[in-house]
Amino acid sequence: MAETSSLTTTNNDDLKALVRTIPDYPIPGIQFRDVSTLLLDGEGFRATIDRIAALVDPAQVDLVAGIEARGFIVAAGLSYKLGKGKLMLRKSGKLPGATVGIDYALEYGTDRIEMHQGAVRPGQRVLLVDDLLATGGTALAGAALLRGEGAIVDQAAFVIDLPELGGAERLRDVGITPLSLITFEGH
Ligand code: AMP
Repeated sequence: MAETSSLTTTNNDDLKALVRTIPDYPIPGIQFRDVSTLLLDGEGFRATIDRIAALVDPAQVDLVAGIEARGFIVAAGLSYKLGKGKLMLRKSGKLPGATVGIDYALEYGTDRIEMHQGAVRPGQRVLLVDDLLATGGTALAGAALLRGEGAIVDQAAFVIDLPELGGAERLRDVGITPLSLITFEGH
């Protein structure tokens, strides 16, 4: 039997209402925007994927690249919806084959993401995907890694954008159009 949908609005406030905010996680002062509650809602997840897909021109996408771990979930939905392959940008040491990677700065320390060598062919257009855009450091690292392998990265899709943290601006500065459904004020 089909689920009844309560998601009838055309803006994305219905989806925003499904995101849970956990204050002071993982450190005091951060409002963690938790998409796990949105993912628990079948119609909400379907609408999330459908609405992001509607922002994307499929003719401009050869592959969808998801950033570990929540980005994988969104990327998988988009990959299915758009009929494109998907590529995993993983944390260090997780991929079994030969990898290429990039280190990037966090507020404290550094992190590293990797992909399989040869996963993307030069000239392929890659849609970069994560659950949330904050400072943009993670997405910029992903874009730099993909571009270093010859991919064209000119759009990146997120469920949530935190505009005050400047990530969207930083992506635009390097020629990437940020697409998102929901914004939250503050950090
Ligand atoms: P950034 O590199 O600063 O754009 O941070 C983006 C990454 O960190 C994404 O993978 C997010 O899942 C995660 N993230 C950063 N800030 C938050 C937040 N306030 N709530 C939930 N996830 C966050």
